[in-house]
Amino acid sequence: PAQNGQNLRSPICCIMGHVDTGKTKLLDCIRGTNVQEGEAGGITQQIGATYFPAENIRERTMELKADAKLNVPGLLVIDTPGHESFTNLRSRGSGLCDIAILVVDIMHGLEPQTIESLNLLKMRNTDFIVALNKVDRLNGWKTCRNAPIRKAMNQQTKNVQDQFNGKLNQIRGQFMEQGLNTELYYKNKSMGETFSIVPTSAIRTLNFVASSHMLVIVANSGEGIPDLLLLLVQWAQRTMVKRLTYSNEVQCTVLEVKVVEGHGTTIDVVLVNGVLREGDQVVVCGLQGTYLHHKEIKAAQGIKITAQGLEHTIAGTSLYVVGPRDDLENIKEAAMEDMKSVMTRIDKSGEGVYVQASTLGYIQVAVMVVVPQLFLDVGTPLCVPQRDFIEIGRIASIENNHKPVDYAKKGQKVAIKIIGSNPEEKQKMFGRHFEIEDELVSRISRNSLD
Ligand code: GDP
Ligand code: MG
Repeated sequence: PAQNGQNLRSPICCIMGHVDTGKTKLLDCIRGTNVQEGEAGGITQQIGATYFPAENIRERTMELKADAKLNVPGLLVIDTPGHESFTNLRSRGSGLCDIAILVVDIMHGLEPQTIESLNLLKMRNTDFIVALNKVDRLNGWKTCRNAPIRKAMNQQTKNVQDQFNGKLNQIRGQFMEQGLNTELYYKNKSMGETFSIVPTSAIRTLNFVASSHMLVIVANSGEGIPDLLLLLVQWAQRTMVKRLTYSNEVQCTVLEVKVVEGHGTTIDVVLVNGVLREGDQVVVCGLQGTYLHHKEIKAAQGIKITAQGLEHTIAGTSLYVVGPRDDLENIKEAAMEDMKSVMTRIDKSGEGVYVQASTLGYIQVAVMVVVPQLFLDVGTPLCVPQRDFIEIGRIASIENNHKPVDYAKKGQKVAIKIIGSNPEEKQKMFGRHFEIEDELVSRISRNSLD
């Protein structure tokens, strides 16, 4: 990692955008290609985060730029279903994400959640790259598997190129309306002021290989993926040297709290900076655990931690390591500060069903209140506010006019089906419609049931 005298950690990247623009597919595509080609290449997906080592990125971008200089050890992409909320979270001092990919569907242009994502990014001052996805939907598009986008574009007919330019200009106009200059990344002479657009395709295509028996090969299209990867890494390492400079001080945020069979409650964390070592004593929200499974892990990485007493961890808060000269009590206090600051913002008054983000732990409402949108997703726990919040079940499916939604807005009516632990409460809620009342506190009142 230490090249050019720099000691940089891996940048952390979030994927954002409107539902159905292809966020998940894009990630599948980045991951899948390599798996299919049998070159795991060190890619690891321990948790809702995928780590791409630099060697892997270099290999995949070879055709694009064989001499690409990569100064970072790799790239960590966060892709949990509720990851959107985490662009909003700050582990102490700095945000979790260094850079973002904003996915736009080339056929749809900017959509409501694209604009909301944009506003979040602006607010956080987070740099981003636009992935203009689904270029394969242009009429007559010829697939060029995993090709750099310029190469793929050169293979297209004049008609396809014209369609592309038409859509591109339209979408650049829409960005302009949001006060943002954008440009195709390879034409962009002023990155930083002008945001770069990388056309991509992430669809799975069927290839029919004819023989006596038809052989069908399923593969990802993947045009533009090399460009996206290289641009992300190069842009981050060029403009964020200070931010990405490796520091020994552990900076670590809890991403998810999960029960795993045979391990009890585990927490998935993103190690933003520093090193976690075997035997380290860690503190999360006042509860103690011991880090066990790896000898040593260096930032940035996503890790699963198994330990005693993690049940009440709150997602979005920090994990602390107790050093040899540290006072355990002081650290416990610091950890609890995180929790206090979120708990004071929770409205526990009145009756109601509280719906919370999917990526959160037991006292889940905590993170929701700092998120300006309400993300509903399968697996989201539903809680009732008695004494504390009591989890009565988890969302099994969500429908809005028979269309599944993974995102809910104020005023929207959604039917939520739950899989529950408490049969009585579950009975009461099953199949009912809820109106999203308040985006901020994410409280769904029983009075507004259909
Ligand atoms: P997300 O909601 O943003 O995560 O979107 P998904 O990755 O789940 O994709 C939504 C739909 O768009 C799925 O049906 C995908 O197959 C389709 N899709 C995603 N990427 C592409 C693409 O590049 N081209 C085409 N034609 N379809 C795509
Ligand atoms: Mg998705």
